[in-house]
Amino acid sequence: MPFETADSAFLSGILEKIAGDVALAFSYQAEDVVALHLARAQTVRPVQVFTLDTGRLFPETNAYHAELEAFFGIDIQRYIPDEPDVRALEKRLGEWGMRHSLENRHDCCRVRKVDPLRRALQGKSAWITGLRAAQSVTRTNLQKLEFDDNNGLIKINPLADWSDERLFDYISRCHLPLHPLYAKNFKSIGCAPCTRAVEPHEDIRAGRWWWENPEHKECGLHLKEV
Ligand code: SF4
Repeated sequence: MPFETADSAFLSGILEKIAGDVALAFSYQAEDVVALHLARAQTVRPVQVFTLDTGRLFPETNAYHAELEAFFGIDIQRYIPDEPDVRALEKRLGEWGMRHSLENRHDCCRVRKVDPLRRALQGKSAWITGLRAAQSVTRTNLQKLEFDDNNGLIKINPLADWSDERLFDYISRCHLPLHPLYAKNFKSIGCAPCTRAVEPHEDIRAGRWWWENPEHKECGLHLKEV
């Protein structure tokens, strides 16, 4: 299976220098498939793969989850939100209250994503993401290697400087499976209430929280302390 040796070597070089457990956060983006492929190509150590099952994912995402596990021959561990927190959130916001204010939306992302992420990263030395600087105005300063102050561990972003063209060329050459909604004009995959298809001229993150200003479009998983 062909792959970008330079990027796999970058990941291997970092993993050789880090002691302790490393996890890869999989959120069903095209980028994550490539990051996972690179993580599987390195031989320094096994990397645990997890996803945040928010309870509001598209039905297609569950089917894709199973397809990925079969393709890579792995288990992708699901971290789910705390049930009492979800009940309290739903009582307060109802089904669509996350669209009514930025505060509501952040509350929903905290319960369904940020808190489960903290649990997923507990005891880890580093995590690997598929983030790219070109994805959004909130990610322009992204580095391949960072310290995640919020979660207190190293963050490795092997695709930080990748372009759209490079990403999809890699996927095509390595015959990697994509989330089925990419074929229906989605350019980024998230929760069903907060993600829509986009027009060809719209940018990658335009379909995420489309009622908000671009500088607010983060769910809290990748925010930096300022
Ligand atoms: S993306 Fe939307 S549904 Fe998902 S956790 Fe955030 S606010 Fe809630």
